[in-house]
Amino acid sequence: MEERDVMEVDVLFVGGGIASLSGALHLANLIKTQNKKAEKEGEGEKLDEIVIAVLEKAAFVGSHSISGAVMDPVSLRELMPDFLENGAPLEGKVTKEEVCLLTRKGRLKAPIIPPPLNNHGFYVVSLSKLTGWLGKQAEEAGIDIFPGFAGTEILYDGDRVLGVRTGDKGIDADGGKKENYEPGIDLHAKVTVFGEGSRGNLTKTLIKRFHLDEGRNPASYVVGVKEVWELPESRMNPGDVIHTMGYPLKRNTYGGGFVYGMQNNMVSLGLLTGLDYEDPYLDPHREFQKFKLHPFVAEILREGKLVQYGAKTAPVGGYFSIPGCVLDGALIIGDAANLFISQKIKGIHVAMKSGMLAAETILEALSSNDFSKDRLEGYEKKLYKSSVGKELYKVRNFHQAFQKGLWSGIVKGGIQYVLGGRIVKNRLFTKPDHSHLKRVKDVYGTLSPSDEMKGVIKYDGSRTFDKESDVYYSGTTHEEMQPPHLRIGDLSICYTRCTEEYQNPCVSFCPANVYEIEMNEETGEPEMRLNFSNCLHCKTCDIKDPYENITWVPPEGGGGPKYSVL
Ligand code: SF4
Repeated sequence: MEERDVMEVDVLFVGGGIASLSGALHLANLIKTQNKKAEKEGEGEKLDEIVIAVLEKAAFVGSHSISGAVMDPVSLRELMPDFLENGAPLEGKVTKEEVCLLTRKGRLKAPIIPPPLNNHGFYVVSLSKLTGWLGKQAEEAGIDIFPGFAGTEILYDGDRVLGVRTGDKGIDADGGKKENYEPGIDLHAKVTVFGEGSRGNLTKTLIKRFHLDEGRNPASYVVGVKEVWELPESRMNPGDVIHTMGYPLKRNTYGGGFVYGMQNNMVSLGLLTGLDYEDPYLDPHREFQKFKLHPFVAEILREGKLVQYGAKTAPVGGYFSIPGCVLDGALIIGDAANLFISQKIKGIHVAMKSGMLAAETILEALSSNDFSKDRLEGYEKKLYKSSVGKELYKVRNFHQAFQKGLWSGIVKGGIQYVLGGRIVKNRLFTKPDHSHLKRVKDVYGTLSPSDEMKGVIKYDGSRTFDKESDVYYSGTTHEEMQPPHLRIGDLSICYTRCTEEYQNPCVSFCPANVYEIEMNEETGEPEMRLNFSNCLHCKTCDIKDPYENITWVPPEGGGGPKYSVL
């Protein structure tokens, strides 16, 4: 067995997103306060030289972070009351907002803003900027951040989580060692906190091994496809917010659009598509291109230019899909724990708060030198009792209400909100997203629907872009000479059952054109081509493949998108 370096830390956060950074910073602040008290007032015990580390797969902290986003500042204010003075990158305070229903060409503006979508006093933010900034604050507080390192394996001592192993570097496409080969290192920690974001690859294995989702609803997701544009003049003020429902999504597809005003005449716009959709030809990237062609959106974008593109999934299963989040030596926080308020389309303040509550529990564990599940269970108790736990409970069946279509969802979701969820107290059950896909024949009545039936459009290269062009604007790159990080369990399924039943939906649902099926001219047989270098790490394929045949694993550390304003 290969010798690996072992690094011992006290607390290890896996994933350098907003949840982990908030947790790490809060913990550093709490330790500082406790130590001051112990020194000055002799109260409590001083905690000496606690090492807190954060592992991040992206080359820079923030460059894999992407969200709409409108942020409720409640958690940031708690973490750092002087966040404004500290230069938090905020695009603008929300003072003007609207909600509208889009038809193919028209728009019906809601006379009032539904209370859950009322964002007055919140901030439009770029999550990549905010995460980068928070990373700097964390570094200044003495936290060790390791960008460019992905956790690829969980290390155990029996059933106790010991830490994680980082990925090897310098492996060629056939698995051989290149000249620059460097084995990954083993990071051991008293507590390992999994804050890997939506559909975390290590969290997924934890959930499976310990049956953490037993008795819960399966996780459910949306994929958000997003662009930032620069406009020739100010058409929206920084902080202006528009939310849309309806076109281009069909009534039986969960989701909606958004346009937010940013600084410097920029706008952030995107479309969220629920991954519990049925149509195997549905292409979330293409639906987003159609969204931009709607006269209302097209007028906002007129003569503007594309600045950046990206895509990401977010967990919308709500309260009943939260897995068990506590193990011996480990906690799960943020999107990785499905902590997201789908009704408000908000996850940032929830992720931050969960990281902070984890930090408070870890402080108690450090003080008592007890990192057992029993001791760490305080985290879950605090979480469910907290303001975000109550928010999640209030709309516990929100996403499930949309399973019978848009209108039914609006009515049921609205009633649930007004009554604090009392009308449907107990859990409404759901199926996993991948099982919702219907066969081509069942959706279209034929095995070869026309482009018109599938909703195919032509891209003009100025307002609408094909996937390859859009991917260029994400800045994503990967070392080409490495094994593909999209693992296909059984390729023969792709060429047989999947082609016959669903006609390879991976080609449609991937927003980065990673999957292509081509006919090999010599053999006359189909062949899967994996353009893995295009990958945006959105995880849609890991979630939506109807046979669960695709597993996303981290590529060599540092690969992936280079978001800076998304
Ligand atoms: Fe997303 Fe998977 Fe496509 Fe990568 S390969 S962009 S994770 S759908």
